[in-house]
Amino acid sequence: MSSTTTLQGVGVSPGQAAGPAVRVAEPLPEPATGPAPTDPAAEASRIGPAAKQVARRLEEAAATVTGEAREVLETTAAMAADPALVSQAEQLVTDRGVPATRAVFEAAGTFATALAAAGGYLAERVRDIEDVANRLIAELTGVAPPGVPELSGPSVLYARDLAPADTAGLDPAKVLALVTEEGGPTSHTAILARALRIPAVVACRGILDADPAGLVVDGDTGAVQITTATVTVRAAVDTGPTDWNGTGTTVDGYRVKILANVGNPDDAKAGAAAGAEGVGLFRTEFCYLSATTEPSEADQRAAYTAVLTPFAGKPVVVRTLDAGADKPLSFLDPEPEPNPALGVRGLRVARDRVGLLDRQLAAIAGAAADSGADVSVMAPMVATAEEAEWFVARARAAGIRRAGVMIEIPAAALTAREVFEVTDFVSIGTNDLAQYVFAADRQVGAVAALNDPWQPALLRLIGMVGEASLAAGKPAGVCGEAAADPALACVLVGLGMASLSMNAPAISRVGAALATVRLDDCQTVARTVLATGTAAAAKEAARSALEV
Ligand code: PEP
Ligand code: MG
Repeated sequence: MSSTTTLQGVGVSPGQAAGPAVRVAEPLPEPATGPAPTDPAAEASRIGPAAKQVARRLEEAAATVTGEAREVLETTAAMAADPALVSQAEQLVTDRGVPATRAVFEAAGTFATALAAAGGYLAERVRDIEDVANRLIAELTGVAPPGVPELSGPSVLYARDLAPADTAGLDPAKVLALVTEEGGPTSHTAILARALRIPAVVACRGILDADPAGLVVDGDTGAVQITTATVTVRAAVDTGPTDWNGTGTTVDGYRVKILANVGNPDDAKAGAAAGAEGVGLFRTEFCYLSATTEPSEADQRAAYTAVLTPFAGKPVVVRTLDAGADKPLSFLDPEPEPNPALGVRGLRVARDRVGLLDRQLAAIAGAAADSGADVSVMAPMVATAEEAEWFVARARAAGIRRAGVMIEIPAAALTAREVFEVTDFVSIGTNDLAQYVFAADRQVGAVAALNDPWQPALLRLIGMVGEASLAAGKPAGVCGEAAADPALACVLVGLGMASLSMNAPAISRVGAALATVRLDDCQTVARTVLATGTAAAAKEAARSALEV
């Protein structure tokens, strides 16, 4: 008999969908060096057949798809079938007496180091060899290979959480919806799902203990129905109002720039098509989530030009690499840290590796010239005015005229006046600012409610930055997810924000909402909201006063 149960998570990407459930397996731990096999020859002889099995599965998966996906799978299958990896791993088992899984891990590591050292096209194959090794280790251990499996048809994925690279690679034609046990409303899984218009629910406690055949997901309410019988595939994603004239303004003519958040050329095209007046946040690290070596200045210049070109003649804010914590870049080879969100991330990486920053700034200046976009740069994770001043000096030395910083650490918000003295503008990253104000990791499902952008504590800090902006006569904007909520966007304008930057799907909704309110209404509502004590009360006060 079939049954249905319902779990409650946090809806982070709107829309409803239903379909067969597919689990995304978690990364495998590094294989242990022991115990030594009692019969090394027998242990070694397991590797060859396992490799053949992995290659066969990949070839079968390749046969079900076309184009680039097929090429990738065929290349990976060929690597799995390569006798060199198998024979080196077999030798490690017989010579050193390590388990087969460990031997595969070490043999793949040797190949990966050699490929990385060769550079260029070969260095790009490092991920593939790691992927083959993971699949082979999973096969030898009898578990599912990690990462998003090849989907034979439209499916609803569920997972503990997804790496940003995995989420960015999801195919919206096949992934009907996404449900994760962990993650919060501002985690990168949520942000990327919204950009891809895939309905998503995060912080869905208990989904990993369920064994669903089908899932029915409501990305608006956060409800997830688990069925033991298959469910009919269906999907409905609201595309929002399109009746916006493309100029961000209140009904009484107060200008607020409505900008796009982008991370790749597709986002940029979608943002331009949605009518964005420019780009408020280009997350450059999204271009390199899978890179295993530092991209050359020429490669960066070409990659950035591809993103900037749809905005030729328009303002674009390029953020320098924000690596670390939830967005690790493997080519930076980060040291393990007990608290990555509080460690060496964002601008702190650049201060340690000035050459890396200077090469990126040179590439951005080149891309500005090649694309014709009106480019500014900004630094992520700035804590003090002294750091801001240091960054602005390096940007100017690279020939970039306008330079600013993100305000996403409470210290920077509290010293916004001093930060404005040394910068041309600031942009508030409400995702991280909330995380640090509430000491609530944005990736941890259990604390998702604290990362609600309607929290009065967060809004009061934004108000302080707005006041500093007015005093300095320099603009402050918001590029965190808070800007994508039409009612909250109006409150942010009332708090003094001059621009709002968001993913493409939110642009027309926010632009249309702003066009229905007066500036003094936004200011009155902002004052009311600041006086509330909870996120729920703040949201209720704004929604009932604004009707957007
Ligand atoms: C933010 O923190 O709000 C932000 C916009 O940056 P990211 O989400 O990339 O950390
Ligand atoms: Mg941030």
